[in-house]
Amino acid sequence: SFRDNLRAYIEHPQAHNNVLYYDEDFVFIRDKYPKSKMHLLLMPRDPSVTLVHPLEILGKHRPLVDKLNFMVFQKLPDLIMKEARNSLFPDSDLSSRVPSKSLWDFIKLGFHAGPSMNNLHLHVMTRDHVSPSIKHNAHYISFNSPFFVNIDTPVSQLPVRGSLSYLFQQDVCCYRCDESFGRQFSKLKGHLSEELESWLQETLER
Ligand code: 5GP
Ligand code: ZN
Repeated sequence: SFRDNLRAYIEHPQAHNNVLYYDEDFVFIRDKYPKSKMHLLLMPRDPSVTLVHPLEILGKHRPLVDKLNFMVFQKLPDLIMKEARNSLFPDSDLSSRVPSKSLWDFIKLGFHAGPSMNNLHLHVMTRDHVSPSIKHNAHYISFNSPFFVNIDTPVSQLPVRGSLSYLFQQDVCCYRCDESFGRQFSKLKGHLSEELESWLQETLER
């Protein structure tokens, strides 16, 4: 099934060109259908965890959660900053004026509460959601509602598996200013582009 399509990356990382980094324990890849300017996936390779549900990982596999955080913040930060800069600022003049701190504040880390792909993957992505691969409200909602479970979520606040489908019927709201667009996807899309511009202006003025 298509749901197994991420398995190849952890089994044969050397065979794929959207692999940014791999070692014995992790593979770090670019999402093939990026839902933001930068959209990366960090995958543990251990066969005994790759098929464990992310909510169970967050609830019961705390050493692995710690390792994922270690990878992002200790092992891969330079690579992540480079990717963020290259994807947000194809024109590198601007990039040099944006401090890494601002970029980190614009990055989120989390799992989908109901993933479509079976092999465990942590989303490492910018908040903009400006991308041709955002094709309907559900795409946006899945990353901007409790369905996107931040890696920092306390165990006591994890959602109940299968309880969140109602979110996909709700109105879409801007992640940055909270304006609601009802169910009007094209209005949301236009606004997301404006918000990315506005974020850029603000980080440059600082
Ligand atoms: P999920 O909803 O399961 O948390 O997210 C799965 C992610 O995998 C999606 O963002 C999707 O775009 C991405 N994806 C699906 N198939 C492939 C693929 O074959 N290669 C890569 N690199 N990413 C994929
Ligand atoms: Zn807004």
